[in-house]
Amino acid sequence: MINANARAVFSPDGPFKLTTIERRDLQPHDVLIEIKYAGICHSDIHTARGEWGPVQYPLVPGHEIAGLVAQVGSDVTKYAVGDRVGVGCMVDSCGECVNCHNGEEQYCLEGNTGTYAATDRYGQYTQGGYSTHIVVTEDFVVRIPDGLPLDAAAPLLCAGITTYSPLRHWEAAPGKKVAVVGLGGLGHMAVKLAHAMGAEVTVLSQSLKKKEDGLKLGADHYYATSDPETFKKLAGSFDLIVNTVSAKVDMNAYLSLLALDGTLVNVGAPAEPLSVNVFSLIGHRRSFAGSMIGGIRETQEMLDFCAEHHIAPEIEVISANQIDEAWERVLASDVRYRFVIDISTMNKE
Ligand code: NAP
Ligand code: ZN
Repeated sequence: MINANARAVFSPDGPFKLTTIERRDLQPHDVLIEIKYAGICHSDIHTARGEWGPVQYPLVPGHEIAGLVAQVGSDVTKYAVGDRVGVGCMVDSCGECVNCHNGEEQYCLEGNTGTYAATDRYGQYTQGGYSTHIVVTEDFVVRIPDGLPLDAAAPLLCAGITTYSPLRHWEAAPGKKVAVVGLGGLGHMAVKLAHAMGAEVTVLSQSLKKKEDGLKLGADHYYATSDPETFKKLAGSFDLIVNTVSAKVDMNAYLSLLALDGTLVNVGAPAEPLSVNVFSLIGHRRSFAGSMIGGIRETQEMLDFCAEHHIAPEIEVISANQIDEAWERVLASDVRYRFVIDISTMNKE
């Protein structure tokens, strides 16, 4: 076993404490990664607090991992010691079902293995990126292009791919009107990516507090959803709406903003069910859809796209002692726009 230092919660309420966890010994196709940076995703909070179902404690969250290859197993061909690499929300899948064969491992019919809070094929409970090291099979490791700094690259492994994938699937492009609901970690990446793909981008945020930022990130328009006039003015106007909100919001109000044949894709994942009135859909042949992260091939494509278009998340780098505080700020929608933990501070208490 390989020991790693980590920050874990020991109950749904936290707080984070320094601990030691075990990573498996390298199997022939495994890569040992020395983690340099880990992003904080709202999913870390939903999971650790048991909102999506019970989990085991201690739990080390973190699925936006950027680091350097420290060691490789005997049969590894894709990576060498020193390579700049990333790991996202999954570390394994069956590799045999139709979805895995098609490079959509996130939709593995056996269920993909989450980077944390899942049981892997070795029977070990997975622990995530708020730690110094992780062992991952090479097929679930991606390469971080040289043009992307490691700290800013980390959030691309979840926030980046989770927004890139639906924007590609529903073809954000010139001539398309795309709205992004919620300007947080995922939302701000959706704005940057949709803008880079050539779409006309509108931000729908709770208030106008972040309007200047939104326009700088690449939005063409910015509206407050707290203003009822917004829903009247924008009725029937979007081809695609990407909802990134982490809480339950009024789906029917947002569906009314779609044009004929428009799609509202939900990537936000509140635990509470969202209710949809069929008349919000049938009147204008609208679709209500969901999307989960992206496959490994598409994750690599997204990283290369970001390097090519000079796109990187807006980050606030914090030390490991500031995780609890950062989580509170995420919950208060006070994040601009992703917290990233500097893993070199792991042992400083
Ligand atoms: P985040 O940084 O907290 O951003 C969420 C944003 O939603 C906030 O910044 C806020 O934007 C808005 N918001 C929050 N509470 C709201 C409320 N009560 N009413 C209206 N708007 C509200 O979170 P994130 O890391 O981007 O994650 C967003 C959601 O996506 C989470 O539920 C997460 O679990 C989920 N997720 C899903 C996937 C997937 O594969 N589908 C992957 C990653 C994350 P404004 O201040 O601009 O209004
Ligand atoms: Zn995430």
